[in-house]
Amino acid sequence: MVVEYSEEEFEKLNNKKKMMMMMKNSSSDDVSSREYALVTYEELPEYMKDNEFIRGHYRSEWPLSHAFLSIFSWHNETINIWTHMIGFFVFLGITLLHLGQLALVDGFFPSLPWSISSSGVNNISFNHAFFFRVLPLLLGQEHPPSSPESDSPSSAPPAAARWPFFVFLAGSMFCLLSSSLCHLLCCHSRRLNVLLSRLDYAGIAVMIVSSFFPPIYYIFQCAPLFRLAYLAAVSSFGILAVLTLLSPELSGGRFRPYRAALFLALGSSGVVPAVHATVANWSEPRRDAALAWEGAMAASYVVGVLFYVGRVPERWRPGAFDLAGHSHQIFHVLVVAGALAHYAAGLVFLEYRDAVGCNMS
Ligand SMILES: [Zn+2]
Repeated sequence: MVVEYSEEEFEKLNNKKKMMMMMKNSSSDDVSSREYALVTYEELPEYMKDNEFIRGHYRSEWPLSHAFLSIFSWHNETINIWTHMIGFFVFLGITLLHLGQLALVDGFFPSLPWSISSSGVNNISFNHAFFFRVLPLLLGQEHPPSSPESDSPSSAPPAAARWPFFVFLAGSMFCLLSSSLCHLLCCHSRRLNVLLSRLDYAGIAVMIVSSFFPPIYYIFQCAPLFRLAYLAAVSSFGILAVLTLLSPELSGGRFRPYRAALFLALGSSGVVPAVHATVANWSEPRRDAALAWEGAMAASYVVGVLFYVGRVPERWRPGAFDLAGHSHQIFHVLVVAGALAHYAAGLVFLEYRDAVGCNMS
């Protein structure tokens, strides 16, 4: 009896000591880092449980400041954040280069091998009513301004409109940035998780729809009725998809296959104009180059979605790919690769229209 009593007493004392230590530690920085340590899948709140094959290295309900700073530390979202953040900056750089080609005086940028501009576009000067000269170019309403020494300015076709190209670049940047933000901050709270997840999926739909603008616009530039019909159809389907994806009911993990199917359907809605375009431009030599790039894009997206849905390779060795190599990271890289392939195809279309206008259609 006496021994049991003293043991109990001892335990009480020990607990008291532990509590004192914890209270002491709570005022130091040490506890904040321990409090926001990475956790396992089982320790996650229900709404964050999405992929049971990723076993650990989760951030769970971290304050926003910690979540923001976690961009520089290792956890199972680090590569997801950076793959699309780097993709965003690549597309931002591309956009600035193209804007620069429109805006800056000839000679500021060296001539680039993939330059979109026809001969005169670089000659626009910031000093000479920039906006009034760039706007018609963006809209494709004007011949490219020609340099005084240009041989036959009047024989050149009007420059193709630039705006469809910028719609695609803007859509891609929106998608990549919202995805990055989602992966960075979704660990904060249930509310933010739901909100950012919806934004992430809506971003993918926006990117798919904006991707259709350059090919449809340039291929059907000289068939305004088809151009309008296809752009209107794709935009309406896109708006429908965005509205569906923003609905709270469809954001949960259970609906992953449904969302993947929706994206595939959205992507497939380009099939009709694509087949039409292939037939309409059967003799155009640049068709093969454009088709090759678009084929690479389609392959990237389809393989990416298969990884995303299949959760391969983590399903084969749960826990082994928590930090690097899991399906979502592969999906992200393939999304960026697909978007870049589509950008290359867009350049082919734009160069084609800059060169031939509607003369050969
Ligand atoms: Zn993602």
